[in-house]
Amino acid sequence: MITAIMKGMYTTFKHIFRKEVTVPYPEERLPVSPRFRGRHFLVVDDDGLERCVGCELCAVACPADAIYIEAAENTDQARHSPGERYASVYMIHMFRCIFCGYCEEACPEDAIFLGKEYELECYTRDGFIYDKAKLNLNVQAAAKQRPEVLERLEEDLSRYHR
Ligand code: SF4
Ligand code: SF4
Repeated sequence: MITAIMKGMYTTFKHIFRKEVTVPYPEERLPVSPRFRGRHFLVVDDDGLERCVGCELCAVACPADAIYIEAAENTDQARHSPGERYASVYMIHMFRCIFCGYCEEACPEDAIFLGKEYELECYTRDGFIYDKAKLNLNVQAAAKQRPEVLERLEEDLSRYHR
């Protein structure tokens, strides 16, 4: 009995002076892996135009049927994207999403990216349906999560403005 107690105390004291392996989340957050893919965003370029042209390729590629898009025509009076059309409605159902990244791979406009955010908590089911108000992100803020956003910026601008 005494031996067992001594063994237990030895084990306890052995760990008291060792470095902690746990992190006091949320006060402290560990950096995520460069390969981590979290919450999506839709890129809005410096000229105020959304990169998304409403082509729906991301929705077709999505294996979880998590993306819903309604496309509309741009006009000279109201232009939202550089293309002929834009996504008047763009929604992602985050409960359905499996974060596979196929939507990002399918996008011909480098408009949608999976970012580094992983805190998606919400108290309502509707709160997990992300619309453009939640998804749109300016290019500088987007580049902080995914620098690749900027890599193709010059190429995109020259394509649309030549
Ligand atoms: S990450 Fe995958 S499951 Fe989620 S919206 Fe994109 S394609 Fe669909
Ligand atoms: S995010 Fe990309 S693939 Fe999806 S509708 Fe917009 S332009 Fe097309």
